[in-house]
Amino acid sequence: MPLYEFFCEKCQKEVALTMTIKEREAGSARCPECGGSGLQPLMATFYSKTSKKS
Ligand SMILES: [Zn+2]
Repeated sequence: MPLYEFFCEKCQKEVALTMTIKEREAGSARCPECGGSGLQPLMATFYSKTSKKS
């Protein structure tokens, strides 16, 4: 499952969330700290091997 990193505007800190792509696209990301939805996506990090770009 992909790990997404967000920046919570309310907490002023970065949070990492593991969620499905479906949840991600649905915009259902919630800060685990404050439960707020004011999350700015930083970058997507995947547990799986990074695909080679040739
Ligand atoms: Zn927060």
